[in-house]
Amino acid sequence: MNLTRSQFDAIVVGAGIAGLYMLHRLREAGLSSLVLERGHGVGGTWYWNRYPGARCDVESLEYSYSFCEELQQEWNWSERYSGQPEILDYINHVAQSFDLLKDVKFGTSVLQATFDDTTSQWIVETDQGDRFTALFLIMATGCLSSTNTPEIEGRDSFKGNTYHTGNWPHHEVDFGGQRVGIVGTGSSAIQAIPHIASGCESLTVFQRTPNFSVPARNGSISKSYESRVKANYSEFRARNRLMPAALGSTFIGNNQSALDASAEEQQLEFAKRWKIGGFGFLGAFNDLTINKESNDVAAEFARERIRETVEDPATAEVLCPDSVIGCKRLCLDTNYFETYNLPHVDLIDIRRNPVERVTRTGIQCQDSKYELDSIIFATGFDAMTGTLLRINITGSSGLTLQEAWKAGPQTFLGLAVNGFPNMFLISGPGSPSVLTNMIVSIEQHVEWIEKCIGYVLENQHSAIQADEEAQDDWVQHVNLLASRTLYPSCNSWYLGANIPGKPRVFMPHVGFPNYVAKCEEVRSLDYEGFTFS
Ligand code: NAP
Repeated sequence: MNLTRSQFDAIVVGAGIAGLYMLHRLREAGLSSLVLERGHGVGGTWYWNRYPGARCDVESLEYSYSFCEELQQEWNWSERYSGQPEILDYINHVAQSFDLLKDVKFGTSVLQATFDDTTSQWIVETDQGDRFTALFLIMATGCLSSTNTPEIEGRDSFKGNTYHTGNWPHHEVDFGGQRVGIVGTGSSAIQAIPHIASGCESLTVFQRTPNFSVPARNGSISKSYESRVKANYSEFRARNRLMPAALGSTFIGNNQSALDASAEEQQLEFAKRWKIGGFGFLGAFNDLTINKESNDVAAEFARERIRETVEDPATAEVLCPDSVIGCKRLCLDTNYFETYNLPHVDLIDIRRNPVERVTRTGIQCQDSKYELDSIIFATGFDAMTGTLLRINITGSSGLTLQEAWKAGPQTFLGLAVNGFPNMFLISGPGSPSVLTNMIVSIEQHVEWIEKCIGYVLENQHSAIQADEEAQDDWVQHVNLLASRTLYPSCNSWYLGANIPGKPRVFMPHVGFPNYVAKCEEVRSLDYEGFTFS
């Protein structure tokens, strides 16, 4: 882009699904806006996560923007769950259709953002030596955008290639003839493992915690289903927005406790949903995420499927999670457990045989050594707060975000932070974000922020910020909602438990769609809980 100015109404950080829609809305509202993006293309998550098998776990007809009827009619998805290349094509199509690229500066990381109390402007500085100012700063930096690579002794001494699923090369990686090791068995690994196994000499999987996974049952979208949805797309979207996770197609809830069903009824309900595939499994009964006894039945059903799929009983047991199903993000897979039946695929239980160090030629565990040509870290992200805290954000009176969040993230509605006027977060901690179809949450946040900015400007305020009291109440409310569920019972990234030293706080808000009603209430009460200056 050819920048001829350095002063904007709004600066948006990130050109993923959130940042692009924010830019579109700001532009429609007549505001001058600039998007700063670290990558060399749009797409955010879908730009970086190019590992073999990367695929969305929300159905294609739902995982797309709803704001433009023409767009949702003209785009045709090929599969029930879209692969990364198709989603990235779609995002590029949107960026071009709405002529968004001209306001995005690519290859530019924001290093710091500082609020100037005297001018009520944000000063944004980048690694390209830029210095921009704007009245509003909108962080569209994503929930899973800072990769986590564990500090294993000797990691940098490995003479083969290392990869991270969240920062995959942009060229094809050929593992032909190679001995490959993969560390981690989360959603990314569970998708990648069958693909990598099919193209390498041997694959060794280093598993710390086994994960639950439900079959995705991916396949091409039937034209008749697509036509039915498209005939009433806005109704389909409206219905999904009222669902607990904003997921419609297969997440048909069952308003019955597992404990009120007979053992036979339980098995029938789980089996029905297992056959359909997808997250609908967790909707089998209404108390699977809140009642341990009910959850145990679902968990045992899923463990039985592992045992009947994996031929070697000892391997099957190592793959069986002993935790709450759905406590960590439930994985969806295609042939994940089947892959362990292949003769060249090995599973190492690193809880029993811990990794000691990476050597020049492989991985040394306590009891055994593995010679490898490539190591893949599928070790996840410093989720929800990682990217925000890596940027030096300084609010009013010199308060830094690192200080404000040292005991864990504090926000009002996940949208704003006390002490940081005119800064908005899209899908920030304290909002439902990762517990929903992200695009539904993103659209809701973007539209709320755009209206809020309009209100500030119309009323000739220079700044808006969340009140400390409203924020404290919100943080308490988010914690209370989480405490009524089984979510806090495992070491998930929702809690920051995957990152050594990160405060253990349940970050997402468990309460879509009530959350949306709360945001609307705040807006209708002239932004109750916010102060203007
Ligand atoms: P993840 O779920 O956090 O999984 C990371 C894996 O690495 C875990 O198995 C973890 O083990 C392991 N690990 C981390 N640090 C380790 C260490 N020091 N030593 C050994 N193992 C270690 O990350 P992810 O798989 O990238 O997925 C993150 C999220 O991205 C998902 O939950 C999902 O929301 C999203 N995602 C979605 C899709 C999709 O749409 N289908 C696909 C991929 C990702 P522990 O469990 O013991 O910590």
